[in-house]
Amino acid sequence: MTADLIGSFRHRLVVPDLPAPAEYLPLLEEIYESGWYSNFGPLARRLENRLLRTIGAPEESCVTCCNATAGLSAALLATGRTGGVLLPAFTFPASLGAIRAAGMTPIVVDVDPESWTLRQDLLDRALAETDACAVMLVSPFGIARDWQAELDICRKRGAAVVIDNASGLGGPRPTKGHGEGVFEVFSMHATKPFSVGEGGAIFSHPGHEGDLRSALNFALHAYAIPGGPAWGFNGKMSEFHAAVGIAQSNRFAAVLDRRRAFVAAYRKRLASYPDVVCPQDLGKAPWQFFPVLLPSAAAAERLIASAATVGIELRRYYWPSLSRWRGTRCLDACHVAEDLSERMCVLPVRGIAAGPEDERMVDLLFDALGGALARQSH
Ligand SMILES: *Cc1c(COP(=O)(O)O)cnc(C)c1O
Repeated sequence: MTADLIGSFRHRLVVPDLPAPAEYLPLLEEIYESGWYSNFGPLARRLENRLLRTIGAPEESCVTCCNATAGLSAALLATGRTGGVLLPAFTFPASLGAIRAAGMTPIVVDVDPESWTLRQDLLDRALAETDACAVMLVSPFGIARDWQAELDICRKRGAAVVIDNASGLGGPRPTKGHGEGVFEVFSMHATKPFSVGEGGAIFSHPGHEGDLRSALNFALHAYAIPGGPAWGFNGKMSEFHAAVGIAQSNRFAAVLDRRRAFVAAYRKRLASYPDVVCPQDLGKAPWQFFPVLLPSAAAAERLIASAATVGIELRRYYWPSLSRWRGTRCLDACHVAEDLSERMCVLPVRGIAAGPEDERMVDLLFDALGGALARQSH
């Protein structure tokens, strides 16, 4: 697709939904007064405490970071492990990059066709047959999942766990407050529901908090502290980003309501398209996008192309499967992830900014979908 065409979409896939400057100006004044701009300053700590209060468990800590990719790498460093890390083939490439950035080796595993998450039987087998010492579980599209079975397998096999729930900040967390060796990482990128611009947060057992802050701050005192991360990098959140995050947290309940109402309209209309699979439990995610699984790769391509002709930007997502990336090691063939990635499209979701234009967009989108499916049999 040419840059021209991308620039010409009347309805972008993502419209960032951030607080207005007036909502964080007093916090910028606070930063100037305190003279503290980064390194887990007062605003970063305030944001961490708020997130803990709203979505944390009593026995948990929250550490902010500059983005989720850095947070995933820091969590891997905080596990103290080196070697292979299992991850699903069906995810955003940041999951893979974060493992490499932590000096570890990704091993890609196929996913389950229903849950779109790493297959439990393969997880067990991969931990037995490979040198993997850690697992990155991914919540696809930020859809909450009860990870208990996967966590039990990892505990039995002695593997550390990092959950990439980058799109899920603000959604439910069925398995929170887990013991040692389990980390969950969220993103605050401008394209995510809890938007700050760039940013992230890592939830873990409080026993890991020091190691996480160390990994995100060059492991400055690593030479003196046995057992912590051997090295680190700069992955801290600035006070400016924390200020926007605090302002976002003040309005986020309303953002979430609006996004859930928006996807409810999609689900209702999709009920008359039995060939299209979409999530049914709308309480399970803050909905960065609404994923729809088309009956064939050709139908997905037709939908994207005909939506583009009426000015709507749609995309396949988690495409291509990580098994198709150059130089990645796979446990086995990843047929399910490759098939899902060819057929999965994401639909735009609007927050507070939604208006009549967005209703028109949804009408146009369903015209495009009807057309894409009608040609299915030809
Ligand atoms: C967005 C996303 C990331 C990357 O988050 P950043 O904050 O942009 O680094 C990682 N993993 C998944 C699954 C994502 O959706």
